[in-house]
This record gives sequence, C-alpha cells and structure tokens, in this order.
Amino acid sequence: MKKSLGVAILLSLSVTPVRGQAPAPPSAQVSVIRAGVLLDGTSDSVRKNQLIFVRGNRIEKVADASAQIPAEATVIDLSSATVLPGLIDSHTHIFLWGEDPAKGGYDENILKAGIALRAARATFACRRALEQGFTTLRDLETEGAGYGDIEIKQAIEEGTIPGPRIFGATRAISTTGGYNLEGYAPELEMPKGAQLVDGPVEARKAARQQLEHGADWIKVYMTHRSWVDQQGKLVSQPTLTLEELKAVVDETHGWGKKVACHAYNGIGLQRALDGACDSIEHGLEITDAQIAQMARQGTWYCPTISPYYGDWAPADTPGGKRDRARAAVHEGSFKKALHAHLKIVFGTDIGGMPWTDSMAQEFQRMVGFGMTPMDAIHSATSRAAEMLDMKGEIGVLAPGAFADIVAVTGDPLKDVSVLEHIRFVMKDGAVFKNEIAK
Ligand SMILES: [Zn+2]
Repeated sequence: MKKSLGVAILLSLSVTPVRGQAPAPPSAQVSVIRAGVLLDGTSDSVRKNQLIFVRGNRIEKVADASAQIPAEATVIDLSSATVLPGLIDSHTHIFLWGEDPAKGGYDENILKAGIALRAARATFACRRALEQGFTTLRDLETEGAGYGDIEIKQAIEEGTIPGPRIFGATRAISTTGGYNLEGYAPELEMPKGAQLVDGPVEARKAARQQLEHGADWIKVYMTHRSWVDQQGKLVSQPTLTLEELKAVVDETHGWGKKVACHAYNGIGLQRALDGACDSIEHGLEITDAQIAQMARQGTWYCPTISPYYGDWAPADTPGGKRDRARAAVHEGSFKKALHAHLKIVFGTDIGGMPWTDSMAQEFQRMVGFGMTPMDAIHSATSRAAEMLDMKGEIGVLAPGAFADIVAVTGDPLKDVSVLEHIRFVMKDGAVFKNEIAK
C-alpha cells in the first residue's frame, strides 16, 4: 500500500511538477543580501560589508558593497548581522522523539506511536531543524519507521512541508542481539529499531534493499551494549563481523554511496576501520593506532558529544558508571582527533535528545574541547558538504552554491553560543525565517 502510493506520487511529479505551500522564487528573481560580516564556510577569513546576489535558488556572486544592485532586486538588509552558510547536522534522527527513561525511554517510540504520529513528529523535527538554521541533515536511520525518512524528504522536496535537505539512511543494519527492542519475554517477537542480519549474504541483501528504497547512506551498528568492566574500563559489544561489514561496504560503494558506522570502542570500532567504513559515529574511545588508521584512510569522525553529557544515571549504579566512563574517554578521543587533524564533522544525535533541545549546543561542546569556533563552523558547513559529496553546492557562500544562507546577530567567533540563536534562514533561495531585516 505504502509502496504503490509512493510510486504514484513519483509518477505525477515526473509529469507535472507539484508545488506546495512553500513559495520558491521564479528562476530569474534576484535577491541581494547585505552582509555586515560574512563567513563563507570554507576559508578562515572574515569579510565585512559584502553583497550576496541570489538568483532563483543559487548564489550568483558575492561582491563588496560597492557592486551595482539591479533595480528589480529585492534587498535583504543583514548589515547588522553575521551571515554564514546554512548549517549541516551530520547525525540526526527525525523519527526519534527522545529517549528519556522517565517517559518510557527508547521503546516508547516504537511501542506507543503509530506511523502517522511518527510522521507528524518527524515533520515537526524538520521544521525545528530549519528554524535553527540547519538547512541540511544527514539523518542516520529511522528507528523502526522503515523508509519514512525518504518519504519525508520527498514531502520537503515537493514543497508540501518545510524542512532541510535530507540525506537519509533508512533502516540501518545490525545483528541478532545487536539492537533494541530488547529485554522482553523470549517468546515474544518484538519489532526492532534496525534491520538485523546474520552472515555476509544477509548483510549484503539488507544493504541492497535499503539502497533500492532510496537510502542515501547506509548506517551500520558496529557496537551495541556498553558497560564498565572490573578494571573500570569501558567495554562495548561488537556486532557485525568483519566479513559481514565488508559485504555491506562493498555493495554500498558499488552504488556510489557511503557507509556510516556507529562504533564506541574496542573490537567493533577496529572492525569498522578494517572494513573501510566512511564515517565513525560517536567514536567514544579511539586508540592512537586507530587515530592513525583513520588519518591514513581518510575516515570522517562525527563525535556527537552532547548526548553523552546529559541524563547520567546515578553514580553508584552500573548505568551511572558506564555513563561517566563514556564521557571521560570521549573528551580524550576528540582531542586526539583534533590534534591529528582528522576530518571532524558536526553531529548532534538529536532525536535521542528531544527535538525541543538546541541543536547548536554541540558547537559549545566542540569549542569546549579545544576546537576553534571557525573550525567548528567549518565542521558544520564545508567539511560536512565534502563528506556528503556536495562540495561547492552546500556549506559555502560562493557562486554556484545553493542559496542556503543563515544569519545571527553577534560574533560567533567570539562566542560560539550565538549560533543557538539563528535569526535569519534562507533555504534554496526562499526566505524561511527573518527576525532581522525589515
Ligand atoms: Zn544516532
């Protein structure tokens, strides 16, 4: 039923383009943004008093304030603001609605919400992201909501709902014993938040199924449970074997797509690297040898710091010990990665945290661990664009790029927390939010 509906919408789109409520400017329409301060997302330089010429949904040119403004252009005055490219969050879950144990935790998402409620929440999440200046998301799996991310992406692209550009991973892959829901009577066949496979044949088949249904990335869980051993060391349970991961990576690379690996530490993280995954998600405890291997292989690192620093269980409980051990090693790994100039991208894991939380709080975490504000901004703009194979198209204010443009009042290079208050958002040449210009 769902599948045939999707086909019908696609067919109608290919015949007559559908436009929803979001008005996109006609291709010839020109807007000129006066930028008081401009950070282009790629260089370290700060430019003052610039003009950004937007034609249709693309940036035509960036010039200094003396450039001629065409009479028919709409002028948007952001001369009191800092203007930068639309932000990119490389690790989100639009279909997750928090994991607060007091509200039933992760399981509640799957057991108590039907697909329509989950889609409505995902719609809210997309609007929230855009309001906060995130014009692109790499959404790393739907947590039991099937291929819903690809359909939400379609609704955004056809203009039915507002939202960021989405790179979706669909269902994700783990193994038997490697994902929630867990802890129920063994006689019960519980739904799972990921597609579980055993053996390289099943692993490759799952990748093929997900790619067939539109996955832009493949997400693999290389570790699952974690705990603290008797020596106080963090241990995480490995999931896919190297052979299984290699089947996924080989298949996905054949389609010209990439593989993101959730990996905390230990055996699972090592298999992720030996299996040539493209990005390590979380990477709580990375050894020096693994840092060197990531540098050699050009592996992206998406640390998602924020979720590991809130909601700790009480200190004297096993969960509390694990929570503290995770945070302690994460800081060291981030600093080592920074020192080795690994390719670090900004990611929040929001969805695990409620969508009402601030996404840009992650900037303060990164800067708090020693990253410069400019580097942190690049991790959420041009560097993430490169990971997404969108270099020059997004994450940059330069001729030819999509007109995804945001602005803040205040100087994010002095106080990165001002990025929590994005006051102007243009996506694809259309103004979505404007609390600054008259
Ligand atoms: Zn995640």
